[in-house]
Amino acid sequence: MFNLILFGPPGSGKGTQSDKLIEQYGLKHLSTGNLLREEIAHQTKLGLEAKHYMDQGQLVPDEVVIGMIRSALQANPNAKGFLFDGFPRTVAQAEALDKLLAELNEEISIVLALEVSEDELVQRLLNRGKTSGRSDDTDTGVIRARLVEYENKTSPVAGHYQKFGKVKRVKGEGSIDDIFGSLTREIEGKLSA
Ligand code: ADP
Repeated sequence: MFNLILFGPPGSGKGTQSDKLIEQYGLKHLSTGNLLREEIAHQTKLGLEAKHYMDQGQLVPDEVVIGMIRSALQANPNAKGFLFDGFPRTVAQAEALDKLLAELNEEISIVLALEVSEDELVQRLLNRGKTSGRSDDTDTGVIRARLVEYENKTSPVAGHYQKFGKVKRVKGEGSIDDIFGSLTREIEGKLSA
């Protein structure tokens, strides 16, 4: 299996690049943000609990998202590999993911970290909010809260995988195709190593 984490702050282009990467490499896309929004749309108990955090720009509790990922891994035993998008978002989630993969005799192959300046992130999220229908993209206060959560809780995840030499940093500004090109270069390098 080839298991990739696409890492980066809210608005760094993870969703856009994920769509292109799963097509190119035949990976199963696991986006915890999308999975949570599906739960909300179906008004499940999990969805209703998660919404309360998401509306405030806070992270949903680790147990909730780890449980979702565990189910998704079990539901796709024959996948060629997984692309994790928006997960793991805390060091505890990263440790849980490593353990779940180890149970399958698998591991994370590479962590691609998209780098985008904070001003650009806020601009992109506000722009997305005009059309995405996502309430967490229209309020500057909620956007700032998400960026603070990212800084405090999520950015240490890069350090966790750096210990294992798995992190490649990629400039996330420029055209979608140029960024995709940079990401695929890193993947090709890893696949041929
Ligand atoms: P973005 O990266 O643009 O913020 P996402 O769709 O990845 O968008 O996430 C939206 C919201 O869902 C987050 O602000 C958070 O509340 C919740 N969420 C998504 N993934 C996780 C996760 N792995 N752990 C905790 N909360 C999460």
